[in-house]
Amino acid sequence: MALSFETRLQDAAGRIGRLSVPSADCEVATPTLLPVVNPNIQTVGADELATAGAEMVITNAYIIYTTPSLRARARKEGLEGLVGFDGPIMTDSGSFQLATYGEIEVDTTEIIEFQAAIGSDIATPVDLPTAPDASVAQAEEELQLTQEAIARAVSMETGEMAITGPIQGSTHPSLRRQAAAAARALGCDLYAIGAVVPLLNSYRYAEMVDVIVAAKEGLGPAVPVHLFGAGHPMMFALAVAAGCDLFDSAAYALYARDGRYLTVAGTVHLDELSTLPCACPVCVGQSPAGLAALASAERERQLAMHNLYVSFAELRRVRAAISAGNLLELVERRARGHPALLDGYRRLLTHGAYLERHDRASKGGFFGLSGESADRPEVRRHQHRITAVPVGAEVLITEGDCGAATDFDTCWRLVPPFGPVPTALRDTYPTNATLPARTTDAERRRALVGVRRLVAAHPDSSFTIAHRGWAASTLTGLQGDVAVIDLTE
Ligand SMILES: [Zn+2]
Repeated sequence: MALSFETRLQDAAGRIGRLSVPSADCEVATPTLLPVVNPNIQTVGADELATAGAEMVITNAYIIYTTPSLRARARKEGLEGLVGFDGPIMTDSGSFQLATYGEIEVDTTEIIEFQAAIGSDIATPVDLPTAPDASVAQAEEELQLTQEAIARAVSMETGEMAITGPIQGSTHPSLRRQAAAAARALGCDLYAIGAVVPLLNSYRYAEMVDVIVAAKEGLGPAVPVHLFGAGHPMMFALAVAAGCDLFDSAAYALYARDGRYLTVAGTVHLDELSTLPCACPVCVGQSPAGLAALASAERERQLAMHNLYVSFAELRRVRAAISAGNLLELVERRARGHPALLDGYRRLLTHGAYLERHDRASKGGFFGLSGESADRPEVRRHQHRITAVPVGAEVLITEGDCGAATDFDTCWRLVPPFGPVPTALRDTYPTNATLPARTTDAERRRALVGVRRLVAAHPDSSFTIAHRGWAASTLTGLQGDVAVIDLTE
């Protein structure tokens, strides 16, 4: 293996990892962003990329290959000399150009040989990106070509250079899953989920989540996963929580060219800002008017630097959240910044079994921040686990006080959204959660799922559910020996 990847801490399906790149003799902390370096136009210098936080960059081997002057320089000075970046350099292959123009001048053998010759650390075969909403037949046919390209690339003698396995399959989760499993079977070093940029550009974050989860299911948890072309700070927390480790994007530079300013809540044009809401070195002591008055190349450079600073700051925040065990709370806060992100977060929570498998069982604390918190993996896991806890013949599950419940063999608290909570677990994670004082019907319905599970697991016991004024509509589906009393009556 030309790369090794070690996961240190998990939260939801996100993880903090170390990617070792032996050909560059270094380790990269993940999750991270690889800024795209355009070999023709360097908006910011390579040393400035590192200053902003880049540990690794990506450039396009196809552009270098097809531009005679760049090609000659790359062959002479190597990629490191051409790009000027002191760290691992990944290269893309021209797939984007293939998707855009329908044909390109190279095949996988030629471009992989070229990537090896110029000293790329991680090379990419010529895969065929299939756009969203393509028919299953078209996506399958194009997948075949991508698989052949991957098979060709991994069969070549490329020394220490790592090979990326692109995963396509359009918006068909079953094809993405299948493509991921096939690429994994071929044995790549890194796996890259492709053709998600059109989804991101049209704010289809829910489908992006489906595509990531499907690919991850096909890949398994051990390998590093890259999301091709994705690099807006607003979506890092969500995409990491879904299972991505690496991102790359030219957005920092492209947006800067248009005078656009990235924030964790979206993109704004410099003209729309009256002040710069950011603590990065570019923004402190600067004003939107001051930036706008700069000569265009300098304005572009400074905006690009801000865009990078804000991106890397968000990635550090994501890592800190994984470390503290509150990544989903960060996702939840980001989801409040844009309705499309809220769609994405809600969709992620529908993949409950997937999240439960990856989420770590013990964390610092659980904050119930919104209705969506009720669907978090910690709640689902609790509801599965309590079914194994023994109960007596007469069981009370109550929002009231257990002290006076002398007529029962067992008394548990009823805590929305968790459901029944054994007294002994009341002070342990996650049911020691900090929750809003007023629970909603949705949280009560989620709690009742836990009640129903517990009742079903103990058919010989009789249950009494004591609630405080719950609507009848939240108390449906109770079967077996169950009495319901309203403590407020
Ligand atoms: Zn800034």
